[in-house]
Amino acid sequence: MYKPKILIVEDDPTISNLIRTTLDTQNYQYHTARTGSSAILDAVSYTPDVIILDLGLPDMDGVDIIKKVRGWSNLPIIVVSARSEDQDKVDALDAGADDYLTKPFSVDEFLARVRVALRRSYTEASAEECSIYENGELKIDYAAGCVYVQGVEIHLTPMEYKLLCLLAKNTGKVLTHNYILKEIWGSALESDTPSLRVFMATLRKKIEKNPSSPQYIQTHVGVGYRMIRQ
Ligand code: CA
Repeated sequence: MYKPKILIVEDDPTISNLIRTTLDTQNYQYHTARTGSSAILDAVSYTPDVIILDLGLPDMDGVDIIKKVRGWSNLPIIVVSARSEDQDKVDALDAGADDYLTKPFSVDEFLARVRVALRRSYTEASAEECSIYENGELKIDYAAGCVYVQGVEIHLTPMEYKLLCLLAKNTGKVLTHNYILKEIWGSALESDTPSLRVFMATLRKKIEKNPSSPQYIQTHVGVGYRMIRQ
């Protein structure tokens, strides 16, 4: 059976020991890098399925590592950092990180995020040739441009449809406001964030059973949105 490979990028021995001990309880293999420059080399040579990345490294900022890796690879990156400001999360996510955990973190939550990242990397690999997206009772037929909830077709405006497809194609990944604005409107002005909220609200009314407690599209306050795998 294939053991997923995790690259741990962390210079603090206490934290990297905790992560290794946690991963030992699962069927994972791992490799540790303590500097940014060795992390970039390992991201190529070790061919990990997921990277766990600290932002404060001795030789480099983690955000620069994300940018470098994104130059050639889409592999999932989970940032684990002591920086808890929204702006730090937004910078890391905008640079292309998939997810963000603030230290100290719960071991269960950490493992759940790793599972989400692994699922994303596997479904992405098989989604290329598949033109149907299914997630719980939500279904998108990309070829026909139709969306179904519980088997019933629902009518979305072109903007709502684009927004839903963007979230669906990145299931499990937190997308920042800036990223969504750039992808959908081609611009990323802070002033556009309120209109994004309006589109999100109308989309939720159409796909969520209870729009005030959404099952599919999760809000990350001050950061962005994430499509949850059911
Ligand atoms: Ca550090």
